[in-house]
Amino acid sequence: MAMVNVNRKVTDQFYRYKMPKLIAKVEGKGNGIKTVIVNMADVAKALARPPAYPTKFFGCELGAQTQIDKKNDRYIVNGSHSGDKLQEILDTFIEKFVLCEECDNPETTFSVQPKKEKITSTCSACGHSSVIDMQHRIATFILKNPPVDDSATPQKLKKLQKEKGQQDNSGDSSPTEESGFNGWSDEPYCEKSVIEDWGDDTSEEAVQQRMRTLGEGIKGLTYNNDLDKSVQERFDIFFTFVKNKLVEGVDNLPDKEILAEAERLDLKDRAVLALAELLFNDKIINQIPKYRILFLRFMANNHKAQKHFMGAFEIIVGQSYPEVLMPKVAHVLKALYDNDLVDEEVIMDWASKISKKYVKKEVSTMIHAKAQPFIDWLQTADEESDEDNEEVEVVYTNRSEAAVLKDVAKVTHPVQEESDDDDLDIDDI
Ligand SMILES: [Zn+2]
Repeated sequence: MAMVNVNRKVTDQFYRYKMPKLIAKVEGKGNGIKTVIVNMADVAKALARPPAYPTKFFGCELGAQTQIDKKNDRYIVNGSHSGDKLQEILDTFIEKFVLCEECDNPETTFSVQPKKEKITSTCSACGHSSVIDMQHRIATFILKNPPVDDSATPQKLKKLQKEKGQQDNSGDSSPTEESGFNGWSDEPYCEKSVIEDWGDDTSEEAVQQRMRTLGEGIKGLTYNNDLDKSVQERFDIFFTFVKNKLVEGVDNLPDKEILAEAERLDLKDRAVLALAELLFNDKIINQIPKYRILFLRFMANNHKAQKHFMGAFEIIVGQSYPEVLMPKVAHVLKALYDNDLVDEEVIMDWASKISKKYVKKEVSTMIHAKAQPFIDWLQTADEESDEDNEEVEVVYTNRSEAAVLKDVAKVTHPVQEESDDDDLDIDDI
């Protein structure tokens, strides 16, 4: 079944809200010609709206009679209409009656007050509540047919939200800021001002402060206009920005400008999804060191970005290049770890649960299985280190440095001091 983004203005393949592409079938002849929307129930389910609403909406917009037969799941618009046309009208319906007017999230619920002739839409993502435009004829229909005993009953919505909550636990809303690792600001290859975590502060003052901190290059860019846009729109802007930079030359990527653009769009965490998609292919193991510093600017000491990156990792190894990369999952992970892109804590957290947020569950399960040798090694290394060292926080930093040192040592010198306390060779995986 072909799936499309619920908000089709969003071109991001990582957009989590999908619906089946609408399928229309023209039946009959002459005056009796009609268009059956074959999968109306499935589409409506993805939108958490009763199938009668979009069907009726089609009728209003096309000036056509509709036939709604819930029992037999038959949703019909009289006349001959193409699937593409109906899909376009559906976009309007979604924009007006599904997407949150504040944040564009589609997880909104209607509450209908027939006596007050009022329909309120409430967003479960941002809490924003808005009153539906009662001018449209569909509003009258909704008033008369409130979403009760249909796909949007409170019980079902509750269940939906509960399921969503579980999904989120394995995704980016789990606690992320508790990291004890705090060691990047002194790294010689990163300028402190760039690596400092600006957090999510979008207050006027914070934005101004960022403007002052950032270099000459971006001063001409407008800051606040784009911040009004949805995350998806801003993500698309960022994606295109990096893509254009790639066209200019892959070897001279302006790291700081790319970071500044992500900061400008308030996308520092999610930006890695676009970067990974644009910069990595089946040669990812060799590409990781090449783009290390660029990624570190986003991911160093930023567990949210690292979690998004683990999603991008799953897509690359499990969906984009499975033939080449599935057998090398452990090696890709080791490369990420050795290049300090993803912290041990984030890797272990990722390893502890299978999420279907980025790839299909079966694919994620397979990636996790292939990752096991590396995870085992990471755990063993951890235990060995714990025996030799007292301060756990320092141990982590040391071990990470040791990993780098050892790799360097492999090429140049014999292993030195710190690498004595753990055995990091997983080459025989
Ligand atoms: Zn919202």
